[in-house]
Amino acid sequence: MIKTLNQQMGHTQNSLHFSALERAQYLEKLKTETFDLVVIGGGATGCGIALDAASRGMKIALVEKEDFASGTSSKSTKLIHGGLRYLKQFEFGLVRESGSERAIVHRLAPHLVLPEKMLLPIIEDGTYGKLAASFGLFVYDVMAGVSGDDRRKMLDKAETLAKEPLLDESILKGGCLYAEYRTDDARLTIEVMKTAVSYGAIALNYCAATGFVYENETVKGIQCVDNLTGNNFEIKAHQVVSAGGPWVDKLRKANDSLKGKRLHLTKGVHLVFPHEKLPLRHSVYFDVPDGRMIFAIPRGKITYVGTTDTEYKGDLDRVVATKADAEYLLNAVTHAFPSIQLSEADIVSNWAGLRPLIHEDGKSPSELSRKDEIFESPTGLISIAGGKLTGYRKMAQRIVDLVDKRLEENFKDCQTEDIYLTTNSLESSKDVQDHISNLEKTVKNQGLDAYHAWYLTTTYGKEAEVILNKMKDFSDASEIALARAEAWFGVNFEMVNSLEDFFVRRTGRLYFDIKSIAIVRKAVVADLQNYLNWTAEHLASEQQRLDDLLFDAMNYYQKELPAQTV
Ligand code: FAD
Repeated sequence: MIKTLNQQMGHTQNSLHFSALERAQYLEKLKTETFDLVVIGGGATGCGIALDAASRGMKIALVEKEDFASGTSSKSTKLIHGGLRYLKQFEFGLVRESGSERAIVHRLAPHLVLPEKMLLPIIEDGTYGKLAASFGLFVYDVMAGVSGDDRRKMLDKAETLAKEPLLDESILKGGCLYAEYRTDDARLTIEVMKTAVSYGAIALNYCAATGFVYENETVKGIQCVDNLTGNNFEIKAHQVVSAGGPWVDKLRKANDSLKGKRLHLTKGVHLVFPHEKLPLRHSVYFDVPDGRMIFAIPRGKITYVGTTDTEYKGDLDRVVATKADAEYLLNAVTHAFPSIQLSEADIVSNWAGLRPLIHEDGKSPSELSRKDEIFESPTGLISIAGGKLTGYRKMAQRIVDLVDKRLEENFKDCQTEDIYLTTNSLESSKDVQDHISNLEKTVKNQGLDAYHAWYLTTTYGKEAEVILNKMKDFSDASEIALARAEAWFGVNFEMVNSLEDFFVRRTGRLYFDIKSIAIVRKAVVADLQNYLNWTAEHLASEQQRLDDLLFDAMNYYQKELPAQTV
């Protein structure tokens, strides 16, 4: 029986609410208490570890140098998937684990992890022939335990075209429909973090680990800097885990343990088009002329396409899309959907992220394994890298099992298979659909349109009602009043500390509704300044940062930005 967060609150040791306004209390606890475990990195992996550890009864702290999910965990293809292509690489363990995890994460957060049928077109000289697709997807379904109507379905050419009329009829031989899930990676990460906090985790964004604290040559904590004030302090802990994603090797270097296996970073870019410019009816996983395969996914007002997979040696903190990335993806779209003629001017946004993969000599980016890897250093630092968003829960379980063994105390076994990832959770896809339908009338009464019923439900679940209620406090035009209610919610319950946190990771506006930023920006800036007591200087740097983000989302660089040498 899964516990709702209200029931879970029975377990809570935390009087804190994941509010940016409680920062001083979080800092005080971090400075004065000793933790069983401190986790570095608030991506999906670190937040997953925090939830697993807190729900087993461990006393746990997590620090994130920027915002939760600001690394790779907001730059993925946003699929909770089994990884069909890993079958071709004979990575059966990975496919089996991701396959079963999909269903679990969907059950735990049905408003955020939505079933999405994927269409695989079978084309002349494509990656999969009919037989290979049919057999491969049969194996895929069996490994993932997919049953009933969700099992893969082979389609003939006419059926495939009926599903997606924009496909190239001249080379199409048929298709295959199979089951996957779509998510918002950043929101999923934040919901995991919120849930961990409800179990007593102490988590702080804008707080970087700068080094390690040692006792008898064993890691017993971390040195930190509060990135909002520049103040330095230490956190004491019996065990330290680094879930630093692409930054894992930097932390291993600081621990003097960067030996043997190391990271191999590859970059992946996604382009965003208004849905009317690329009006797909269906999510499609299609062939690219160079032998790779990429996704095109319609979502609300937009369709996004990705991803690339290229070697990366540039700046870890500002990863941008280049002209070559944009051209590659534009050509891929033209190749798959020849009646659609898109140019750079049609791209309204993009995101670029880094895969923290494990280096293997002689392998190209696409051939590198997506399996996760755990490193244990001679001084006791545990690091984890690689893996997938989809597998965050299992990765967390493996790490916390290891920590548990080292702590030698009587903590509970892993609980996370039964913990809903949101307050007052919706319990099934049907609940989610009903909630969207029920909300349509309310949003219309409040001057919004049907899109917002979908947006609010798939972003906040039932918390949408709290936001719609708060909206009534504001007399602005409805779209602005909604953003102000979301800003209030974000600061008070989701640790929003910056414009970027709000526009990119709490509301997804930079990627999925970029036009709305111009409409609501002024009001949101004023509210955040007021809630968070920004000085004029801080406000100016926030505005500049948002301008930079908007620039990067809409422009294409000639080459990668160089790695920082500091
Ligand atoms: P991150 O999300 O990068 O988190 C690490 C965090 O550590 C960062 O937020 C960083 O700021 C923080 N940090 C680093 N150093 C410090 C420090 N010194 N102090 C404090 N904090 C620090 N997986 C899927 O399952 N489905 C997909 O569709 C999918 N698509 C992908 C597409 C692309 C283009 C890419 C790049 C990846 C994709 N993945 C996908 C993989 C998935 O996104 C990653 O495996 C996952 O997000 C990694 O999470 P993480 O927490 O390990 O790393």
